[in-house]
Amino acid sequence: MITLSHFFRKKPTIKYPEQKREIAGVFRGQHVLKRDEIGAERCTACGLCAVACPAEAITMTAAERQPGEEGLYREEKYAAKYEINMLRCIFCGDCEEACPKEAIFLTDRIVQADYKRNIFVYGKDILVEPKENPIDLSKRQTPGVKEFKHHKEFQHNQLFDKNTKRELNIEKPTVAHDQKTKLGHR
Ligand code: SF4
Ligand code: SF4
Repeated sequence: MITLSHFFRKKPTIKYPEQKREIAGVFRGQHVLKRDEIGAERCTACGLCAVACPAEAITMTAAERQPGEEGLYREEKYAAKYEINMLRCIFCGDCEEACPKEAIFLTDRIVQADYKRNIFVYGKDILVEPKENPIDLSKRQTPGVKEFKHHKEFQHNQLFDKNTKRELNIEKPTVAHDQKTKLGHR
């Protein structure tokens, strides 16, 4: 009877790749390196994500921002080269948790299959989000992360005007630095 009953059940298999499952917005898939509100790269090549990575999948080379590049890179230091080896990555999300600049997030995009191993070393050309088409992370960004970005007293939350390269929208500190950890901000 049990065997027969299975004939009449809805099949759990789907015909991938013609059919695709819906995946959760908080699915841990392909990473993105985020830009800030004016399009400058948030990553400062601090290396904390690489240290936190249990698979040793992340490598980077730091460089110093030059005068006039404020619209390209958020802080004085940036990642001239940033690579993630997707064959090593286990999509644990530790890099996202470790990042103090809200620069790296995992997304609901699936890493595509390929036949060559070197294709899976993703560089900045793939990882940095396109300026004109930002990756929506609203489902991954917790209320704590959103709140953190309101605090302009932290340098990486300050904004620069693209044309004048000067800071703008700097607000008075609304929270003391020692309160930062109490609020659960990274
Ligand atoms: S998701 Fe985990 S394994 Fe993959 S790069 Fe980030 S820390 Fe490393
Ligand atoms: S992604 Fe974040 S943790 Fe990794 S180097 Fe850039 S700023 Fe540091």
